[in-house]
Amino acid sequence: AAPSQATTATADTRTFDAALAHPRLLAELSEAIASHQLAYALQPKIDLRSGRLLGAELLVRWDHPRLGPMAPDEFVPIAEQARTIGEMTLYLVRHGLAHCRGWPATGDRLHVSINVSANDLADPRLVDAIIDACEGDSPGLMLEITETEVMREPERVAEALPRLRSHGIGISVDDFGAGHSSLVNLRRLAPDELKIDRSFVHALLASHSDRAIVRATIHLGHELGASVAAEGIEDEATRTWLTQAGCDAGQGFWIGRPMPPAEFMELLRAQG
Ligand code: C2E
Ligand code: MG
Ligand code: MG
Ligand code: MG
Repeated sequence: AAPSQATTATADTRTFDAALAHPRLLAELSEAIASHQLAYALQPKIDLRSGRLLGAELLVRWDHPRLGPMAPDEFVPIAEQARTIGEMTLYLVRHGLAHCRGWPATGDRLHVSINVSANDLADPRLVDAIIDACEGDSPGLMLEITETEVMREPERVAEALPRLRSHGIGISVDDFGAGHSSLVNLRRLAPDELKIDRSFVHALLASHSDRAIVRATIHLGHELGASVAAEGIEDEATRTWLTQAGCDAGQGFWIGRPMPPAEFMELLRAQG
């Protein structure tokens, strides 16, 4: 076991350091939240048939004072082991919705999608705070949760959903097909959107089985009354195939990279 441990430490020094520094990293994350230093990018999401913007997904960004820019995968899982995830989610919901209230009207019903963890939805006070943040005139809010997250707190997540839904907040199952799925959970969640994982999307033109899975997912989503989105669209041919297969919404580098909020605002303005 010793050699493989050594390899892990040298191959991914930064993760190794982060693991040693959890308490410090969490304190620094709380500090970034309290001093409004935590940032986010917005990635456009379009209606595949019309090509028009439907809104954006908000993706957290942290420019750490010592470590430099950190990817969400480097600190979100750590925050999820602590109460810090709730602070972060609420911060992003409040800041994200405040930003969206400044979006120009495009004639479309726009929404912002925010990623949440099971811990967030399992905490009734946080669910209340999210609902409070939605009061007033603002674009729609959609919460994205992965199947794996749902499985960590299936009962409590299922309890939170009707309350969120009664306030007009949508639920999207993120990375659909890639997690610990269960059709029982899917039935219980009754999501508003299924978001097909990009591992099925990125090479679908070269893979018969990926195309079969995507087609079946689109059908399943529609039969359940959900809208179906695809993430990870990286070229025009994939977008065309998905549109013809009946997929409703799309996201990916070919459509638009995650960008600063001001830049997304310009995109909306250009659409008019
Ligand atoms: P996700 O929610 O599935 O987000 C999509 C990720 O795929 C983003 O990475 C995005 O930059 C990337 N992506 C988008 N289009 C393409 C594409 O065409 N090709 C490829 N290869 N990648 C694409 P990012 O921003 O690094 O986020 C990674 C994950 O971190 C997210 O996956 C989400 O699970 C988590 N995350 C991000 N922001 C938040 C947040 O605010 N809260 C929570 N709880 N989790 C977050
Ligand atoms: Mg997401
Ligand atoms: Mg995803
Ligand atoms: Mg993902």
